[in-house]
Amino acid sequence: MLKQISRLAKRCQQVLGGKPRQAVGELRRHPARDLGLNEKAISSAAIKVLSRLHQQGYQACLVGGGVRDLLLGRHPKDFDVATDARPEEVREIFRNSRIIGRRFKLVHVRFGREIIEVATFRGSSDNGKGDRHLKGGRLVRDNVYGSIEDDAQRRDFTVNALYYDYASKEVLDFANGLDDLNRRRLCLIGKPEQRYQEDPVRMLRAVRFAAKLGLEMDSSVREPIPKMAGQLADIAPARLFDEMLKLFMAGHAEATWRMLVEHGLFQQLFPQTWASMEQRERHDLLLQALRNTDERIRQGKPVTPGFLAAALLWYPYQDRYQQLLDEGCKPHDAMHEAAEQVITRQVRRLAIPRRFTTMTREIWLLQPRFRHHAGKRAWRLLEHPRFRAAYDFLLLRGLEEEDCAREAAWWTETQQLEGGALKKRLTPPRKRRKPRASTAERDG
Ligand code: ATP
Ligand code: MG
Repeated sequence: MLKQISRLAKRCQQVLGGKPRQAVGELRRHPARDLGLNEKAISSAAIKVLSRLHQQGYQACLVGGGVRDLLLGRHPKDFDVATDARPEEVREIFRNSRIIGRRFKLVHVRFGREIIEVATFRGSSDNGKGDRHLKGGRLVRDNVYGSIEDDAQRRDFTVNALYYDYASKEVLDFANGLDDLNRRRLCLIGKPEQRYQEDPVRMLRAVRFAAKLGLEMDSSVREPIPKMAGQLADIAPARLFDEMLKLFMAGHAEATWRMLVEHGLFQQLFPQTWASMEQRERHDLLLQALRNTDERIRQGKPVTPGFLAAALLWYPYQDRYQQLLDEGCKPHDAMHEAAEQVITRQVRRLAIPRRFTTMTREIWLLQPRFRHHAGKRAWRLLEHPRFRAAYDFLLLRGLEEEDCAREAAWWTETQQLEGGALKKRLTPPRKRRKPRASTAERDG
C-alpha cells in the first residue's frame, strides 16, 4: 500500500508539478496514462457500459471508488459509471438493466454476477421544480439532474469525485481529489456539518474509507462527528445494515471498529453492545472475531453476518441472560428470552435479516450443549448443521473463559477422530455396579 502511494506521489508530482490547490469546481484534466491508470484494469463489463453510452452520444465516465482505487493501485470492489443520459435512456440502451431506488434513482446493468451501477449526473441546485427533497436539512430524495461539474460537488469526499472520461482517456478532477489522494487525506466537499446533516451515513463512510485506504481524516471531517453521530438514529435500519456489511466485511473490520469506537459511531450502531462493553475491561472475544473475519476474507473464505452478529451481540446477550437468572428465570427460558430481547432491540436500529439472526440465535443456544461429552446429546450436537459455527464461537469464548477453552480443546480432539475411535469417545462410561462389600467388611 505504501509503495503504491509513493508511486502515485511521484506521478502526482509530475502531473501537478507543485501547482496550488484548485478552487472547488475548477476542472483539471490529466491524461490517465500519466497517472498510471490503465484501461486494462477496468472490468470488461464497465468498459462495455462506458463504450455503449459513448457510442450513443452520451458522456460516459467511471467515477468514485473505481477511479480512486485504481489510482492507488488497488483492485476496486465495483465500478460505478456516471453519465448525462437519464435513467430511462440508460435503461433503453441496455436490455440487461433495471432502474432501482426512489430516493436516488440509478440503473443497474447486469453482466452475469457483476453489476455496473450507472448514475445520471446530479445537479447542485434545484429551482424547486425538480425531484429533490430536503427534510430538516436531510436529503430524502435527489433526482435533480445537472452537469458533470454539479455532479462532482454533490459527491461526498474529494477523492471520490475523480472521473475517468472514457472519450478523452483523462482523469477529471474538480475538487482537489488527486492532491488529497496523494497527501493521503480524506476531505469532504463543501461544509462538513451541512454534508453530514444532509446524509449522516457520510460519517460512517468517512471511517470506512479512512480505515480501508489508510487515509487520514482531515480535522474538518473528524471534528463534527462525535456531536452529530446521534443523527444516525434517523437512518433507515435497512440502509444501516448495508453499511454494516461494508464496514465489517471488507477485510478491515478490526481497524474500522477501532475507529468507529474512537469517533463515537459504534455506540450508535450497536448501543446495547456499547453499554455492555463499558462494564468490561477486556473485549477479547469481539476483537478476535473481527480479526478472524479479516483473516478469512484475506484467505478468500466465506464470512457470514450471522456469526459476526453473534460476536457483536454476545456481551449484551450474556448480561441480559444473567439478569433474567437473577430475577429467578430458569436457565433454558432465560437463554431463549435473552436472545429474543437482544436481537429484537438490535434489529430496530440495524435491520439484520432474519436468516442471519436465526443463525446468531442458534450459535448462542448451542453453547451450553458442548458440556455433553457423551451419548445421544453429543452425537446430535456433532451432527447439528450449525455445529461448526457454534464450535468456532466456543473457541472465541475460550479467550475469556477458561472452562470454554477446555471444552473447545476437548471438541477439537473429538472432531479429529473417526469411526470406532469417535464412537468410543462419545460412548457414555458404563455405570459401575456398587461393589459388594467384602466378607471381612460384612463380618466387621
Ligand atoms: P466502494 O465501492 O469501494 O465502497 P465507493 O466510493 O465506490 O467505494 P460507493 O458507495 O460505491 O462508494 O459510491 C460510489 C460513489 O458515489 C462514491 O465514490 C461517491 O462519489 C458517491 N456517493 C456514494 N454515496 C454517497 C453519499 N452518501 N453522499 C455523497 N456521495 C456519495
Ligand atoms: Mg463503488
